[in-house]
Amino acid sequence: MRKLSPFLITILLVSCGNGSGNNNSSNPRNIVATNQSTKPIPLTSDRNKSLCSVENLDEAQRNLNLSLFVRGQIVDEDRNFSGLIDGLKVRDIGASIITESSKDLNILYTYTSTDDVVTTDKKIINPQSAISICADDGKYARASIESAALNATYFISKTGRKVSELLPSVKIPAIEVEIGPLIKKSLKQIVKGEVVWTFEAFDTDNAYYSPGENKITFLPHSEEFKKAGMTMNFWEVPMVASHEYGHHIFEILHPYNVVNLGMKNCFGKMGLHAEPSELGKRSVTTEDVLGALNEGFADLVSFYSLDNNERGLKGVPCLEISRDVGSGVFADGTSKIFSTDALATFFLTKEVEAPETCDVPNYQDIHIIGAIFANGADRLLSLSVPTKDQRLSIVLSWLQEMKVKSSAMNALSPQDFLRESFELLVQMTAKMTDGKVDQSECDLAKEIYPEIDGHIISCMPAPLRNI
Ligand SMILES: [Zn+2]
Repeated sequence: MRKLSPFLITILLVSCGNGSGNNNSSNPRNIVATNQSTKPIPLTSDRNKSLCSVENLDEAQRNLNLSLFVRGQIVDEDRNFSGLIDGLKVRDIGASIITESSKDLNILYTYTSTDDVVTTDKKIINPQSAISICADDGKYARASIESAALNATYFISKTGRKVSELLPSVKIPAIEVEIGPLIKKSLKQIVKGEVVWTFEAFDTDNAYYSPGENKITFLPHSEEFKKAGMTMNFWEVPMVASHEYGHHIFEILHPYNVVNLGMKNCFGKMGLHAEPSELGKRSVTTEDVLGALNEGFADLVSFYSLDNNERGLKGVPCLEISRDVGSGVFADGTSKIFSTDALATFFLTKEVEAPETCDVPNYQDIHIIGAIFANGADRLLSLSVPTKDQRLSIVLSWLQEMKVKSSAMNALSPQDFLRESFELLVQMTAKMTDGKVDQSECDLAKEIYPEIDGHIISCMPAPLRNI
């Protein structure tokens, strides 16, 4: 058997998001393998510890104790779940934000490349079932299915309620929260009747939003993740659940096709399992620019909808500075601005080698371009309006305006699309405040996005007039 580098094999492997189809063929592509492990750590139920003797929670039992990773450490904090437990099911009453929290899904995707023609197959090993809690237990073991579902439900609902309050005219469909599915990918390459390569692994160490299914998934973590020193679980970091719900809001306000750069709606790979791959060609489309804006938007939604002491990323490796909306720099001290270098690298038609450490921003990663957008937006909004609600309102209105203008915007080059998107935010901020872009806003916009100079009409000097 030939020993082949898996990254040269031409099989498409979608590493996260809802990309796995049923029994179809596709053209071969290069593998992108991230966030995968042969050693997932399955989440287990803590429900059997309880007596589970009654069928409903009364109001006095709606204070539940959550295990959260906030302010750099694991802490136990009480939260009020009024309206957030339906019977004993972990979802809001009436299921207007969350239709169901589910567990136990076990699914196998098989990808077979036979002489470079790829077929895929999907097999449900075990179907999902609803997560419920026990009325007589106010605390669930850390990293249990129930604990993860309660955390996700609480923070998704918090973000959902805030967005609905600010956008009462928009009906936001409810989503499903999927906890700890075992999703196995099995790959096989056959050349002239001979099996030359096989690979099997589970999707791990990520959270993502699947637009077609209106679903937010928290994957199990892996032994590698824990060995790498990660002490937290993603469902313990409030920003992660809220960020994924931010993608849902983006999808409702401005749906678009995710076709190119991959890593769609993932939380991000955090530099884990990032294997060197063959540096290939890339072409960045307006959908990819929207992907980057979507990441920045989701970061902003969580930043503005969560409490200040819940929204931070302190102690979360690779994310704590780079994805902290309030940080004006990446972890290596590089300013979060749309510099010539950042833009040139993002739009480059060739892949660049990923930096060795996640402290250094990789400008070809849509999460990094999104982080520049999010920090820039926050700086501009902070200059103009005092409250988080006002800032979030402007960001939501900006995205609605992006949708209104989308047919004209789609005619732009991806470079112009990104710049126009940022300009639109500057203009929306002015429209929703004092109606004009004043000098300090102009100066800041140009600092964040130097290429904007000369584009914003209201920033230009007034034309000379004959008196
Ligand atoms: Zn994301």
